[in-house]
Amino acid sequence: MSDRYQRQSFLGENSQPKIERVRVGVVGLGGGGSHVVQQLAHIGFQDYVICDPQTVEDTNLNRLVGGRLKDIGQPKLAVAKRIVRGLQRKAKIKAIADRWQTRCDEFIFCDVIFGCLDSFQDRDEIETFCRRHLIIYIDIGMDVHKVENDPPRMAGQVILSAPGGPCMKCLGFITPEGMAQEAAAYGAAGHRPQVVWPNGILASSAVGVAVNAITGWTGKTPSPVYLSYDGNSGLVQVHPRLEYLLTTQCPHYPLGKAGKPILQQL
Ligand SMILES: [Zn+2]
Repeated sequence: MSDRYQRQSFLGENSQPKIERVRVGVVGLGGGGSHVVQQLAHIGFQDYVICDPQTVEDTNLNRLVGGRLKDIGQPKLAVAKRIVRGLQRKAKIKAIADRWQTRCDEFIFCDVIFGCLDSFQDRDEIETFCRRHLIIYIDIGMDVHKVENDPPRMAGQVILSAPGGPCMKCLGFITPEGMAQEAAAYGAAGHRPQVVWPNGILASSAVGVAVNAITGWTGKTPSPVYLSYDGNSGLVQVHPRLEYLLTTQCPHYPLGKAGKPILQQL
């Protein structure tokens, strides 16, 4: 093992080769994804599929880790690539400046995909894809809600959705009501509040969850993971809903339906 990873050798004797073999996908390279990519590069990941169709805007720089003034107008991908290259010269980086759905062929070989997305619709689509192809999906997100006569409430979540285990629907995170509300508000939502530090906390928690799933260093690899973050108090804790989860089997994505979609002749 190179000296660079001495301080993380507690992750296990073969942890570094395991980390290096994993193909990791990051969908969304904004406030959350930029932290994720940065941490993956520090840890020593060598095989990336990263994706974001957007360019850097002035209004992203309050939270885009690694973003610089002169990046305005450049693809967010370029910022992420620079971060990875600055630490891992030989890493394989497949960079997709488009929606992830256009390059499913690249994501299909990922072992873990981080979703750093804004909408339930996007999350639902990528979770469905990950389930079909037996990929571990880790979702992060945050929001700030206005509360009448009270300070705003900042909240976020980290969810690990593993094939066969409870999904984001089982966990009550993706609901028909939430999807319908989102669809009704389409185009009217405006810019959602986003700041750097909760994204950092959520991304750090998510990367920790992924490294545990890959190395098993804690001796426990819980599935599902559902962490909730209270941005007003700073507390990250196991979401109370996990206690009331009635089953560890997911009825939405049965394992028998995994694999490539097959066109059946009628
Ligand atoms: Zn489910």
